[in-house]
Amino acid sequence: MARMARKKDLALKFLFIPAVILLVLGGCGRDNTVSIRKFPYPYKAALAICSDIDETETIKESLTIQEFLNTSHSTRFGQGLNLEIGNSFWFYNQCLDIDGGTFIDSLTLATKFTGGLDFGISIFKGTSDSLSDYTPLLLRLIKAGYIDGLHSYGNFTEHQFQRALAERALAFLKKDSLTIETFINHGGYENTQNIGKAPWFYGDNSGALEYHTDLTIPAGIKFLWRGQVTHCIGQDALFSPVNLIKQSYEYLQDQLHTKQQYPHDNKLVHIYQLDDGQKIFEFARFISPWGKYPEADENHLADQLGSSQINQLISNQGYMILYTHFGKGNGTEFLSPSTIAALRYIKKRNDDSSLMVTTTTKLLNYYIHSKYLYWHTVEKPDSVIIMIDSIVNEIEGKLLPDADDLEGLTFYIPDNKAIAIKESGRFLQYIANAADGTGRKSISLPWRHLQFPADISLSR
Ligand SMILES: [Zn+2]
Repeated sequence: MARMARKKDLALKFLFIPAVILLVLGGCGRDNTVSIRKFPYPYKAALAICSDIDETETIKESLTIQEFLNTSHSTRFGQGLNLEIGNSFWFYNQCLDIDGGTFIDSLTLATKFTGGLDFGISIFKGTSDSLSDYTPLLLRLIKAGYIDGLHSYGNFTEHQFQRALAERALAFLKKDSLTIETFINHGGYENTQNIGKAPWFYGDNSGALEYHTDLTIPAGIKFLWRGQVTHCIGQDALFSPVNLIKQSYEYLQDQLHTKQQYPHDNKLVHIYQLDDGQKIFEFARFISPWGKYPEADENHLADQLGSSQINQLISNQGYMILYTHFGKGNGTEFLSPSTIAALRYIKKRNDDSSLMVTTTTKLLNYYIHSKYLYWHTVEKPDSVIIMIDSIVNEIEGKLLPDADDLEGLTFYIPDNKAIAIKESGRFLQYIANAADGTGRKSISLPWRHLQFPADISLSR
């Protein structure tokens, strides 16, 4: 009997000690702290589709694609997706009007613009100061946030872009109080207005004919795509051995092709210093899982980002900005059946609360604002107040964030305490969320979904 009792005692001790450890660990970390959730509730990963405007030949093509992406209208591709997917524009280069009639002479074309003709959508006709017929439409879409990227000032050949063109373009935007935050380099050696350290990029070289970043950045540009593409599925993602192998391969590629060096830590955004000393956030774009489809054209979209890549992105809990050209490689139907199917799968994973989908600029703003947010808590026995202090980083300086800067931010909260969130002495409205897959409840500052202008429609 005595021996059995001792055994029972020992067994109880063995059970008791781990139970105490579990209680202590659970009590300190799990439900009683406030922390920032990586993505806005309820999502597990985030995607932007970043389309360059090259070869989108007519406004009809552009609007047909955007209406399908951005509205739930009944379109030629079926019901629209109603997703926040943006697009880009040029200021100069549109050489045909909406009906295809030429209004720029071929000599000007040959001297100003690169290689073959490219009719990408632009604000001005050629390099003149007359506006394209559809410019009012573009301005409305810029204002609404659905056109959010400047794909450089246009499609120029060497040294044909000059600073005065940037001055005119920025003055035009300012007149309408519009700001563009994302600049995407376009073309290769010939488009010498591009920004970055490559010897053929003069946009940030003070003294060059093309120098414009002292105008462009103060006008609101804070994100730059310099040219980095990656095959890693999910940036800032959970550890993945496959991504690590790809990252190492991309690093080696850079060493062999040393004219443009990029960071290789698989982060979405880095701080980059321009040749003129200014700083900017630069971002990487995902091109494809295994190095195929270097053109990133519309008809390759399903191979770049099919359901299997989307599922991996979600399970890796990463960010992704997809590199594409909706207007390139697409023929008269504009969107290929395989692309429509891939986009519908993205919509499905957005609907099932797994994948956040938003424009490049909104995704980047969410990323940097959640990363550089300063906040603290004031805790009482039965309540917690989350105090928003500021956003501080090398590009934006110190700002007291407004509702746009904070949209989507989600905080995990303790289970049994009253919660408030405050900034500059005033309480902010928030949404209370149910527990997610981690078992933790959270609160979010509202995401303000873009509004597509109701009267812009080709299908009605
Ligand atoms: Zn381009």
